[in-house]
Amino acid sequence: MFPLRISTRGKMMANMNEAPGYHAIPITVAYGDGIGPEIMEATLGIINAGGASLAIETIQIGESVYHKGITAGIESSAWDSLRRTKVFLKAPITTPEGGGFKSLNVTVRKTLGLFANVRPCPAYAPFVATRHPDMDVVIIRENEEDVYGGIEHRQTDEVVQCLKLITRPGSERIIRYAFEYARRYGRHKVTCFTKDNIMKLTDGTFHKVFDEVASEYQDITSEHWIVDIGAAKLADSPEQFDVIVMPNLYGDILSDVAAQIAGSVGLAGSANIGSEVAMFEAVHGSAPRRAGQNVANPSGLLLAAVQMLVHIGQGDVAARVHNAWLKTIEDGIHTYDIYDPAVSKEKVGTREFAAAVIARLGKKPQALKAVEYPVHGSPITIKLKERPLPVKELVGIDIFVEWREAVELLGKRLEEHAGPDFQLVMITNRGTKVYPGGVAETFCVDHWRCRFQALHNGEPVAHEQVIALLSRLIAAGLPPIKTEGLFTFDGLPGFSLGQGQ
Ligand code: NAD
Repeated sequence: MFPLRISTRGKMMANMNEAPGYHAIPITVAYGDGIGPEIMEATLGIINAGGASLAIETIQIGESVYHKGITAGIESSAWDSLRRTKVFLKAPITTPEGGGFKSLNVTVRKTLGLFANVRPCPAYAPFVATRHPDMDVVIIRENEEDVYGGIEHRQTDEVVQCLKLITRPGSERIIRYAFEYARRYGRHKVTCFTKDNIMKLTDGTFHKVFDEVASEYQDITSEHWIVDIGAAKLADSPEQFDVIVMPNLYGDILSDVAAQIAGSVGLAGSANIGSEVAMFEAVHGSAPRRAGQNVANPSGLLLAAVQMLVHIGQGDVAARVHNAWLKTIEDGIHTYDIYDPAVSKEKVGTREFAAAVIARLGKKPQALKAVEYPVHGSPITIKLKERPLPVKELVGIDIFVEWREAVELLGKRLEEHAGPDFQLVMITNRGTKVYPGGVAETFCVDHWRCRFQALHNGEPVAHEQVIALLSRLIAAGLPPIKTEGLFTFDGLPGFSLGQGQ
């Protein structure tokens, strides 16, 4: 076994362990904060004893880096290591309290294009308490898009907005990944959750791409649920699901729900996969109150490391380690967080737990299902389908204005200035049509979406005509707070028609 050391601050260290039959694969390791160093030491000790062949580079991330004034919590030299090894085993970090600090995870995911978050959530009943003993769900969450771009604006005194971006290639990539994952790991069904009954264009795109991709995987059952009822069903009867693929926000929330109802968030590991680089980590945080006491459960990070071993083509090591871990759990050797006198045999600390797993290497669980992984597997690669570019035409403009008086007055003034090229089609307030033909009961704020289209509806308009319209409105004291072009794509509207239409 190689000596496990925790790096001195800011220094890069290489550690090499080459097992027979394998070249050592370079990986980058960060020990993190709080309980991070203890669970990383336990994890590396176990996978090393299991035969992992790794050339380890250690980088510094987290609290100590934030405190140097580096707001992303990661130094520039660390990026070099990540880009070189392309594999990152990361312990949790502590994000300092107060503003001004960026989320390290979001930075790493977005910078390195880690588009897929994969979180297996199986139950380990009866050894870990759960109400859902037959649950074995894998959540595959889109990791880069949706509302996580952090594109937010205050537009009027009363209104702020957050831009939700769903892209066709981003959706196709994650959905193809989910189907490929299902095929690779012998799973039978992929479920998609969206809210496309409300967000017909954004979530609608995700659902549409899901249906298109699903049709190419006839060997795998596919289904779609509206996220609210889907989430309720997941919480109530998770055993009915297999792989679930979701846009970022729903996936963020429901992957925690799934891990929790499976038994413990503390047992879940996750993989963040990109086309070049992949990051593996526990789902839980740095648990600072438990740090340095040899009590933390290393299982979440260990199971993330198992995913890493499969990813780098050391599937037999992954299976050996995973099965030894399952055997340890079913033998009742438990850390405090899952200890239950009714089923546990021994309450152990981090180091003792690691030693118990190492002692069981080569053994398989009897009650829990043993795992198998492809021995020299390669990472899942995704190829997007080529599509012809559609014909795109500008057919109007939504102009957002700030206004505090009666909507009828706003409507009349906008109609006066619509000019020779446009007609005012409608005004909405928070998405509800209020002009023409609104009702007095509708609650309105100071933010109005005013839709202008060509006098002959559906006719294309020129950008110069839009600029002239905007100039007339500005001159009339109605400056825009933002505009959105109304485009058709191959003749189909690329904009919602507005509630009430
Ligand atoms: P946490 O996950 O660290 O802890 C929640 C609870 O679970 C605590 O009671 C803790 O003691 C317990 N716990 C967590 N992991 C455990 C383990 N392995 N073994 C035993 N018990 C465990 O969440 P928190 O307290 O909200 O956050 C603490 C810090 O972690 C914060 O600074 C937060 O920003 C950070 N965090 C980091 C990551 C990450 O690096 N990926 C993720 C989440 C939170």
